[in-house]
Amino acid sequence: MNTLDKNSATSGKGRPVYLDYQASTPVDPRVVDAMAPFFGEKFGNPHSSGHFYGWEAGEAVEVARENVARLIGATAREIVFTSGATESNNLAIKGIARFHKDQRNHIVTLATEHKCVLESSIGLEREGFKVSVLPVMENGLLDLDRLRDVVTENTSLVSVMAVNNEIGVIQPLAEIAAICRDKGAFFHSDAAQAAGRIPFDVEELSVDLASLSGHKVYGPMGIGVLYVRRRPRVRLEPLFSGGGQEQGLRSGTLAPPLCVGLGEAAVIAAQESTDEAERLSTLRDRFLEKILINIPDAKINGDVISRIPGNLNFTFPGVMAQDLMAGLKDLAISTGSACNSASVEPSYVLKALGLSDEDSFASVRIGFGRFTTEREIDFATDKIADEVDRIRRGSLQQSMHATPAA
Ligand SMILES: *Cc1c(COP(=O)(O)O)cnc(C)c1O
Repeated sequence: MNTLDKNSATSGKGRPVYLDYQASTPVDPRVVDAMAPFFGEKFGNPHSSGHFYGWEAGEAVEVARENVARLIGATAREIVFTSGATESNNLAIKGIARFHKDQRNHIVTLATEHKCVLESSIGLEREGFKVSVLPVMENGLLDLDRLRDVVTENTSLVSVMAVNNEIGVIQPLAEIAAICRDKGAFFHSDAAQAAGRIPFDVEELSVDLASLSGHKVYGPMGIGVLYVRRRPRVRLEPLFSGGGQEQGLRSGTLAPPLCVGLGEAAVIAAQESTDEAERLSTLRDRFLEKILINIPDAKINGDVISRIPGNLNFTFPGVMAQDLMAGLKDLAISTGSACNSASVEPSYVLKALGLSDEDSFASVRIGFGRFTTEREIDFATDKIADEVDRIRRGSLQQSMHATPAA
């Protein structure tokens, strides 16, 4: 028997154990239930203001907006629905830069940001903006002194993610916000990996803009949110022209099933994330202990303190991640961000931490979450330890054949 003989949300009979919660989270069954009627009789256009079907869908969208707002300490009017964190990040970065370009033309971001943040920022250079991409320290965290050095009265936006999607580290957001405020720059945070997993309150952190993604919080794919502060009001230029929905910031018909799904996911996260984080820390410690006993030279990438509980990123020196994954068909793990896993480039995030190409290629990301069980952790750690051992014996044998004794 190859896989765990059990039925859970993520590892039914014959299916690999899912350990890639940073790439996507399974949709919570309660979210599916909440969405279902909006694929059925409640199919109306939420912007149809003249009849029952429109009101029904529109009201559901507004309830969802309230629920998302509550999760992050915002008000409903500060929530703009988008197609996902990629769109939210594009809207925040390009929107702020373009709206304020006559006053300020400098934006600052981090080398370890998600590709959509880096590409949005660097793309603005073609429009004449100056872009600073700051390095990170060996632990993956931003050096606040470096930030202080580059943010000036010409900086319109600083974009720093809350939690990194490859290595799980949590950036010092409140401190970053203070530096931004000091120079009058807006602060945007890609919170796709943070919201619903760790406390993320836009008031406490003094964030001006924040991006969320449905499918990173046990909601559906294809929906996200951009939080846009109203007091004081943050103004930005929309990406799309159209009917002026979402206060003119995001034209296009909203998808009520997806909005409702994200709203329900936010309610569940608000209620359960504290207990969930505690349970995940216990699973994480168990995972870590078992790996380090069996593979004592394994290295953890990213700060060991300032990190979310549901992520571990390991380097197993000398063991290529591609070989490891090929031998672990019963597990769904990854080499880094899903968007880059088809490429043979080493992870730019790990490179930014100072890892060699060789160590980057020998690194894997493990992500667990709401539906991960202790049994799955034990199963996975046993499999990984065996496979690392098998690969190392194999390469030892190969090198003995390659250099026959004299
Ligand atoms: C997944 C992710 C994104 C992209 O979100 P989508 O909703 O899939 O577009 C952006 N940033 C981070 C940190 C992510 O983890």
